[in-house]
Amino acid sequence: MTNSIQEYISTLGTVDVHEHHLPEVFLNREVNLLQLFQQSYAGWTQARPYPLPSETRDSDPMLAAVGPTTWEALAPYLEHSGSSSFVRNLVRGVSELYGDGSADISRKNWEALDKAVREHHRRPDWGSEVLRRAGIERVITDPYSDPLLNAPEAFGKNYNSVVRINAFACGWHPESRDHNGNSAHALLARLGFKPDSFNDYLVALEKLVNGLTARHQVALKNALAYDRDIAFDEPDEPLARQAWGKASPPAAERKAFSDFVVDRLCRLAGERDLPVQMHLGTAIIRGSHPLKTAGLVERHPGTRFLLMHLAYPWSRDLLGMAFVYRNIWLDLTWSFLLSPSHFKLALHEAIEVLPNEFRMMLGGDNWHVEETYGAMQTARRLITEVLDEKLASGYFSRATAERLARRMLHDNAREFFRLA
Ligand SMILES: [Zn+2]
Repeated sequence: MTNSIQEYISTLGTVDVHEHHLPEVFLNREVNLLQLFQQSYAGWTQARPYPLPSETRDSDPMLAAVGPTTWEALAPYLEHSGSSSFVRNLVRGVSELYGDGSADISRKNWEALDKAVREHHRRPDWGSEVLRRAGIERVITDPYSDPLLNAPEAFGKNYNSVVRINAFACGWHPESRDHNGNSAHALLARLGFKPDSFNDYLVALEKLVNGLTARHQVALKNALAYDRDIAFDEPDEPLARQAWGKASPPAAERKAFSDFVVDRLCRLAGERDLPVQMHLGTAIIRGSHPLKTAGLVERHPGTRFLLMHLAYPWSRDLLGMAFVYRNIWLDLTWSFLLSPSHFKLALHEAIEVLPNEFRMMLGGDNWHVEETYGAMQTARRLITEVLDEKLASGYFSRATAERLARRMLHDNAREFFRLA
């Protein structure tokens, strides 16, 4: 054998199918080291950024203003949460991009690293330079602060975006908003629609979906696991209509409205060959088990669903679904940041269980490029380890391992999203 599988994987370009690169964060030229920690999954170790049904929040803590970096502000991440995989991933990314070879961020080197972060981010080309170093050639972003974002206009031609549908599933009243603070009526008004009946609203939704391609949007994104239980039941149109126009409809009417809208959008997407991404697993955790979406997947056999995050902690249930339903693809994003060791276990099983080699793809799921860089390095390392283990056990040949790696990192995403 000439080169190792690691060397082969390091040569592969990646199509990154999921990021949260938002204009107000990604294009900001004033970024410091503390901000990288707050606006990342490392930040989630300090504050969960989404409220549970029993909680309220005034604003998104991830998008709050950040002060200057101090050791006292960094210590909670590095010393109290230093064992978290989210923190390890970001520390590794920052160290590789800015570091002096030290594998950690400490009292000794934090000031130099902070200075390097601030200086590099003043360069307008730094973001694309980091993506290049991460081997990323194409990015699909979920810009939830502006679900209608035209990503190539904002970030450049190697970007596409998806439309987060949460606001539309909560659009029973002009003032109703999703957990990100988005209003369906405000978004539709930007497209020139002012629906004042439920029927008008349905027409506007169809036009919303028809307009995706013009904004270079390549999929719908269902992140309703952060707003509600994801049991998207059989649509009950009469009950859904009762929610229309009410500022605070009863829970059953709200659920029926959002079930109905989700069902309608999945049908419209399928008819237009547009995929639907869906967040599964930890969110409002009592309601985010993947099997809760089985009815939706069954009702729309012609719609291609990209199910996310290995539905952690229910990855085996998700793999069971992906074995049964052939309109399911898997986005491995985030699962390898949350738990590298569980990811390896699940990837071994996924390789064995999935009906073909076209089902898996991955992304970074991050706000800043440093975390994206770390995520892609982590993914390549873990995929290499799993494929090496499969080769060592004689499970498949080197040619199969290489073909699968290329499909996971690159080819599957290009085909799935019909990227030119
Ligand atoms: Zn995400």
